[in-house]
Amino acid sequence: MRKKIIAGNWKMNKTPSEAAAFAGLLAEKLDKSGCDVVFCVPAVSIIPVAEAVKGTDIAVGAQNMYWQDSGAYTGELSAEMIRDAGTGYVIIGHSERREYFGETDSEVNKKVLKAIEKKLVPIICVGESLEDRWELKTVGLVRKQVGVALKGVSANDAKNLVIAYEPVWAIGTGMTATSAQAEEVCKAIRGMVCELYGNEVAQAIRIQYGGSVNEKNASELFSMPDIDGGLVGGASLKEDFIKIVKYD
Ligand code: PEP
Repeated sequence: MRKKIIAGNWKMNKTPSEAAAFAGLLAEKLDKSGCDVVFCVPAVSIIPVAEAVKGTDIAVGAQNMYWQDSGAYTGELSAEMIRDAGTGYVIIGHSERREYFGETDSEVNKKVLKAIEKKLVPIICVGESLEDRWELKTVGLVRKQVGVALKGVSANDAKNLVIAYEPVWAIGTGMTATSAQAEEVCKAIRGMVCELYGNEVAQAIRIQYGGSVNEKNASELFSMPDIDGGLVGGASLKEDFIKIVKYD
């Protein structure tokens, strides 16, 4: 059985000292929850948050990274830097990065390959706009995003990574996908992983749903057969995140 993975995406919120205090408070209540719990925090908060969760089973994640190892890339952070700072995970291709910073599928692929090389677990975000959904393009578009993101990834590495299905129209809007809508796409993603790598990898890979998850809808969403947890934005900034992780 796949272990659930519930990650909070704190986006551009909380100062490093606020982040450390909040992480410490949550970690105390979420240690040994039975799920993999990840706090994906702003880059400047990685070190203090890693310190705050030390000794618990909470992991720290970054929200982005660059695919080059080092050099003249002002403002960027390498996989090795974020790993050394204390992360085990990195969100790649979040829709906000795609929309506001022009991140493309092929850049997502370069980041995924580099994250794997540097022993970070990528949380690869895919998802359609409302327009795509109205035009019945959802599954085709998500299949394309997943296909490009996984180019050059071996079966062995694919097993360990995380894909987050996040419909763009559901992120930060309160318009959560129904459990049936979310399951349909997560199942299609698993089907695609099966086509690419076979059933063993498809059964091992973890697929999250993200988009206005809260303490009220988490249980229904996470009980769907192909949804292995969630990527949570707004609700991960409040103590309610504890109820999401303990969704039973
Ligand atoms: C996200 O940022 O990945 C996200 C899903 O945000 P929210 O939960 O606020 O919709």
